Amino acid sequence: MENRRTLASLARGLLAKVSWYQEMGIEEMKVPPHTPLTLEEIRTQLGDCQRCKLCATRKNIVYGSGDPHAALMFVGEGPGEEEDLQGLPFVGRAGQLLTDMIKAMGLTREEVYIANIIKCRPPKNRNPQPDEILSCEPFLMKQIQAIRPKVICALGTFSAQTLLQTKLPISALRGKFHDLGGIKVLPTFHPAYLLRSPGEKPKVWEDLQKIMAELNLKKPEKKNSPS
Ligand code: SF4
Repeated sequence: MENRRTLASLARGLLAKVSWYQEMGIEEMKVPPHTPLTLEEIRTQLGDCQRCKLCATRKNIVYGSGDPHAALMFVGEGPGEEEDLQGLPFVGRAGQLLTDMIKAMGLTREEVYIANIIKCRPPKNRNPQPDEILSCEPFLMKQIQAIRPKVICALGTFSAQTLLQTKLPISALRGKFHDLGGIKVLPTFHPAYLLRSPGEKPKVWEDLQKIMAELNLKKPEKKNSPS
């Protein structure tokens, strides 16, 4: 009986997800080869979004920033306190580390695109909940369609699991390229995790160097790994 109820609830969730994607004009999770909307048009469509409960506590929607034609996109989990205040992604302590990581690759923040799975800060920086991800993710998918990066670096568990539609842990996903509709996705640890566990930085640097090789980025002359 309990199993039947669980199955029914899963089926209801799946149907809700399918109809949400249809409503958003997304036929499947895979990214199609055309760019139906620009980033500005997607932002307009998002509007003063109230599609999930996070709208009640956010100060600003954190849409994303950077080059609309970037070859490399970073996707994190969601805004923290500083991001919520400024309306910009990755501007707190973890953001400074991400900036250092980008510089170590010989790039600037303006040359990549940075976004998150959800665009509003969860209260007290708690983890995003499934209904919030379900509501927000279609806009990220449209942003990906618009940008068509060659590589997406998924930062942390929620980003990797959401983009790749898997429950595998980040430790199993990181360091390898995965496919999202022809776009290469390389998951690595989230900069906030690196602040707590600096001993993991060499693994992230290895991951970033794989992305650099994939994008034919020149290694900076002196070793410039994020510290
Ligand atoms: S998290 Fe996303 S879906 Fe929820 S209110 Fe913010 S912008 Fe809308």
